[in-house]
Amino acid sequence: MDCTFCNIISGKIPGDMIYQDRDLVAFRDINPATRVHILIVPRKHIESVNDVSASDQTVLGKLIITAKKIAEHMGITDSGYKLVINTGKDAGQMVLHLHVHLLGGEDMKGGGLC
Ligand code: AMP
Ligand code: ZN
Repeated sequence: MDCTFCNIISGKIPGDMIYQDRDLVAFRDINPATRVHILIVPRKHIESVNDVSASDQTVLGKLIITAKKIAEHMGITDSGYKLVINTGKDAGQMVLHLHVHLLGGEDMKGGGLC
């Protein structure tokens, strides 16, 4: 299996890492859609939300709590931000390793459904 995010986590390919702990990592998106665009990724290879189970509950909670901490660190808590998890084909999920997009740093209103 050749997974881009597993390769970033293992150090096989570079990532612009901004946070790491035992359960997850966060790095800047290589093709940012907004001024702040960070991906928060569990170290465990879980393909998508369709593949989570009860045993992933702790790490899934940590993804949101870490997103909040990174938003604070980036100074976008007051202005606001979006957390997006694309799941499957119709959502346009490109990397089949679960991740949360943290998007902010600019006005994103009027962007349609998401
Ligand atoms: P998704 O459509 O939710 O699967 O989004 C995958 C995201 O990963 C996209 O926003 C890509 O720009 C980003 N991406 C792909 N490869 C890399 C990489 N090597 N480093 C950082 N971000 C990446
Ligand atoms: Zn992976």
